[in-house]
Amino acid sequence: MRNSARTRLSLVVPVYNEAESIALFLDAIHRIFASQTGLDVELVFVNDGSQDDTLDRLLESQGKDARIKIVDLSRNFGKEAALSAGLQVATGEVVVPIDVDLQDPPELIPAMLEKWREGYEVVLGKRVNRDSDSWSKRISARFFYRIHNLIAEPGLPENVGDFRLMDRKVVEALNQLPESRRFMKGLFAWVGFRTAMLDYVRPGRAAGATKFNGWRLWNFALEGFTSFSTSPLRVWTYIGCLVATMALGFAVFIAIRVFVQGVDVPGYASLMVAITFLGGLQLIGIGVIGEYLGRTYIESKHRPIYIVRHIYEP
Ligand code: UDP
Ligand code: MG
Repeated sequence: MRNSARTRLSLVVPVYNEAESIALFLDAIHRIFASQTGLDVELVFVNDGSQDDTLDRLLESQGKDARIKIVDLSRNFGKEAALSAGLQVATGEVVVPIDVDLQDPPELIPAMLEKWREGYEVVLGKRVNRDSDSWSKRISARFFYRIHNLIAEPGLPENVGDFRLMDRKVVEALNQLPESRRFMKGLFAWVGFRTAMLDYVRPGRAAGATKFNGWRLWNFALEGFTSFSTSPLRVWTYIGCLVATMALGFAVFIAIRVFVQGVDVPGYASLMVAITFLGGLQLIGIGVIGEYLGRTYIESKHRPIYIVRHIYEP
């Protein structure tokens, strides 16, 4: 049980070309937290290299609201990097990463705080359904979680995004992770801690459009698999063993047939099939190695995760 007099809460909000969403978001925040006593809210916006007037909107809002901090990144580094930047800057004893488009309902935060006061260190927001998603996104999300949880350790709780409440301890643990390629969902799960779950209905976007198209989501999924599993690399040993055993069996079969029926030359079709099939299999294997090698290469450069142009303190 926690019972300090006041609680410092940081909201970490990554924004990329969200000029239309910011005012709506702030209205919602003001509405919800006006009635909450004993809470000091800090809003950490991370401007992830927006090309529209997101930064101007944020600076305008900061002029009216001294709880707003703005971390301005030097270019678009992606949501994962923007979140990492926000977590480094946030000072609250509890921290909540939240999307600016109101798809992560801020109304849930008071209930999350209740759970935290009961002693939980992480409180996840879990979507009860995917009605606000397209058909293709629903199917691909299901596949993603199935495959990821089959091969990766630790597994990801299904339908849980970045929206969650974290104790300071959890944030410190995340901030210490050194990797530059950051699959946040996976890292959140990896650090562990006592976790509670709260259900919520995810509404559609309040304004603007999604920044994640199919190709970006596919690469996001690959990032997840390769960051948390080496099974795609190891599976080739077993496929190799299987294919070699089959080839040996086939060789014995051919040898016996030669002894029984005499020499028989035809076999063009089966040869072609074997060559092309195995060629394809080898290319896939090399491709998988390439995925890991490329990531190892990038990681080995030890570049920072993001570059900050300026932090605007209130
Ligand atoms: N976002 C970001 N950098 C990016 C892409 C997105 O900071 O390169 C932010 C975006 O502004 C929003 C959040 O990440 O606050 C979630 O993005 P979006 O709503 O487009 O994702 P979706 O909800 O469609 O998965
Ligand atoms: Mg969204």
